[in-house]
Amino acid sequence: MNNQSNLEMNAREYKCISCGNNNDQLYRDFNSGIIKIEHCKHCQKVVDKYIESEPVIICLDALLLKQQAFRHVLYNRQSQGQWKLVAILLLCDAFTKLLLQRPNSGESRLRPDYMIYSALEWGLYQNFSLALIELLSTVSIIILCIMMVSSEKCRPGELMHGILLSNFGKILVIPAVLWGTNYSLIYVSLSRVFVCAANIQAIRVLSPSCHISICITSVILGHVVATVTSIWIQNMFSQGQV
Ligand SMILES: [Zn+2]
Repeated sequence: MNNQSNLEMNAREYKCISCGNNNDQLYRDFNSGIIKIEHCKHCQKVVDKYIESEPVIICLDALLLKQQAFRHVLYNRQSQGQWKLVAILLLCDAFTKLLLQRPNSGESRLRPDYMIYSALEWGLYQNFSLALIELLSTVSIIILCIMMVSSEKCRPGELMHGILLSNFGKILVIPAVLWGTNYSLIYVSLSRVFVCAANIQAIRVLSPSCHISICITSVILGHVVATVTSIWIQNMFSQGQV
C-alpha cells in the first residue's frame, strides 16, 4: 500500500469519498502484512480508494475537479506542507503578474536570464505582497459569506485550508505566460475560472449543506472584491510614483 505514512490511524474520523459520511478507519491492518481496505458503513463502497493510488492519479482527479479527490485530500490525508504550497502559489501569482506587466516584445519570455533577474527585481516582491493581499481578501470574503449564510456550524480553519489548497490552478498559467503567447491574458482568465471552480468544489465538500448557489456567489464575490482591491492598490501606487 502506498503512502501509508501519510495516513493517521489514530482516533480520528475519515470521510467516505463517495457519500461523504464518517467512518472510523480507512483500512484494517492485521499485523501480518495483510491489509484489508474498509468499506463504508453507509453506502458499502470502499471508504477511500485513493489510499492505494499514486499521487499523480490524485492530482489528475483533482484537476478534473472530482469531489472524491477533494474529500481524500481535505479529510483523509494528513495535511503537510500546506504553507509551502501557499508560498509557491503566491510566488507563481507574483511571477505571472510581473511578466504580464512587462512589454511583450514578441520574442519568447522563456530565457534563463528572465527568471534569474526576476528574483532580483523589487517588482516581484511588490507583486508578491499584492498576491498575498488578493488571497487574504478572497479567503476572508468567502469564509464570511459561508458563515453568514450557511445553516450548519462551519469550521473557518477547515474552510481556509480547503480554499487555500484549491488555488493550485494558479500554477497552470505559468507555462503560457513564460512562452509569451499573445493569448497570455486568455490563459490567465481561464486559470481564474478554474480556480473559482476548484474553490466552489472545495466548499461543497467541506460544507455539504451549503447550497451550490451560495457557494458560487461567495466565491465570485470573494474574487471580485480581491481583484477590485488589487486594482485600487496598483492605481494608488502608480499615482504615487507620478
Ligand atoms: Zn459511503
